[in-house]
Amino acid sequence: MALEEYRKKRDLAKSREPRGGDASSHAPVFVVQEHDASTHHFDFRLEIDGVLKSWSVPKGPSTDPREKRLAIQTEDHPLDYADFEGTIPADEYGGGRVIVWDAGSYSNLKVDDDGNEEVSMLEAWQAGHLTVWLQGEKICGGYALTRFRDEEDPPKWLLVKMDDAGADARRRPTSTEPASVLSQRTIEDLDEPE
Ligand code: MN
Repeated sequence: MALEEYRKKRDLAKSREPRGGDASSHAPVFVVQEHDASTHHFDFRLEIDGVLKSWSVPKGPSTDPREKRLAIQTEDHPLDYADFEGTIPADEYGGGRVIVWDAGSYSNLKVDDDGNEEVSMLEAWQAGHLTVWLQGEKICGGYALTRFRDEEDPPKWLLVKMDDAGADARRRPTSTEPASVLSQRTIEDLDEPE
């Protein structure tokens, strides 16, 4: 609540000033890591409440609002995992190669006209419905994450592109833009696990 007055004075939906995080001053990060473990998938992660909330997305994010992508909830990861690229040994959990396929910052779209949060990201995650604005190098704009099977362990969500300027039904960035945004390497450029 420390920034309540700061936010009250400004229309942060119109001004480009930083809105400020609750626990830190940087914009929260998102990252999508490509991971060729026993099954190839993309790990979608959002910084929420000091950790990376995480989902395993078998087909990766789409830029087509008509595509609903299964997103299986996985365990929280530490924030510094967002920069991780490399080869996990074959006999370890998640053995396989990882690259940072896309990364950037995001904002919570659940805000009122004054730019104040109506529902925090943590509350939205607990309630099973997130809407975020991603500013990545490959994927941009609004995305919705909706939990549809919360009785299952792990819970299953759907990741869907919102219909906005970042939507494009013709793009297939997961196949046409394979290089890491950190190192420009592709998964094939990394050593295979031993
Ligand atoms: Mn993974």
